[in-house]
Amino acid sequence: MSILRNRGISTLLPVICLLLAVAAGCSSSSGSTPYAENPVAGRETLAQVSTINALMAGVYDSAISCGQLKGYGNFGIGTFEALDGEMVMLNGQIYQVKSDGVAYPAPDSLGVPFAAVTFFDSDFEEPIASGTTYSVFQTLIGQISPSKNIFVAIEIEGNFSYVETRSVPRQEKPYPPLAEVTQKQSVFQFNNVSGTIVGFWCPQYVSGVNVPGYHLHFLTADRKAGGHVLDFTVNQAVISVDYTPEFLMILPGMQSDFYKIDLSGGNQSDIEKVEK
Ligand SMILES: [Zn+2]
Repeated sequence: MSILRNRGISTLLPVICLLLAVAAGCSSSSGSTPYAENPVAGRETLAQVSTINALMAGVYDSAISCGQLKGYGNFGIGTFEALDGEMVMLNGQIYQVKSDGVAYPAPDSLGVPFAAVTFFDSDFEEPIASGTTYSVFQTLIGQISPSKNIFVAIEIEGNFSYVETRSVPRQEKPYPPLAEVTQKQSVFQFNNVSGTIVGFWCPQYVSGVNVPGYHLHFLTADRKAGGHVLDFTVNQAVISVDYTPEFLMILPGMQSDFYKIDLSGGNQSDIEKVEK
C-alpha cells in the first residue's frame, strides 16, 4: 500500500516559531480580540483560536468572528459560538455544518470559540489507494510527513465509498462540557459521496492545546453537507499536504470564561472519546 512516497526532511523549514498573541492588557468590550484586527500570520502559520481543553471544559463563547478568522487562513476547522455545529473552512469560505447535517455558509459576524486555520499551499499531492480506510490512513503518517513533530495541513479531495461524520447541537448557558454534548451528537453516513476532507495532523506535544494526531472535517462537493469525520473509505481521491512550521495562538478576550477555568490538567482520554 504505497500510496505516498517518503519526503525528505529537507522539505521542512527548520524552525518552529511560537507566537503567542496575549490578551493581557487589552481593553476589549466587544467580546472579540482587538489584536485579531491585525493578523500577523504568514502563509506557513497554523493559527489556533483558544485551546481544545477550554472547549472540552465548555468555553463556547466567541473569541473571534468568522470574518476576523479569514485574516489568518483560508483553510481549516473549528466550531461556532454556543457549539453550534462543525466548521469547515475551504478556499476561504467558511461552512457551518449544524446538527441537522446541513452545511450553511457562515456569516462573517458569526463567533468562533475554537478553530485552527492556515493558508493552504500544497507541498505535495498524491493519489490515495482505493479502499483506504481512516484507520489505515492513520498508520500512514510516516509516509505523509517526514516528522511527527510538525503541523501538517491535510486536504483529501475526491470520491469516497463511505464517509461517517457527526455534528453537535447548539448549547444554552450554562454550557455543559463537550463530553456531555457529544453523547447527543448527530451521526451522518454518506455512501459514494464526492467531497473534501479538511484538517490537520498535530504533534503529540500540542496535547491540551489542540488534538494530537488527526482532526478532520468533511464537506460534500455540492457544499451542502459534512461534519466532523468519524470514519471514511476512499474510492478515488488525492491527498494534498501542507507542512506548517509556524504556530500562532489567539486567546479569547480577557472577559472570557477561559480565564476562570482550570486548564492545568490533562484529559487525553476524554479528548479521544470526544474527537475520535
Ligand atoms: Zn472536529
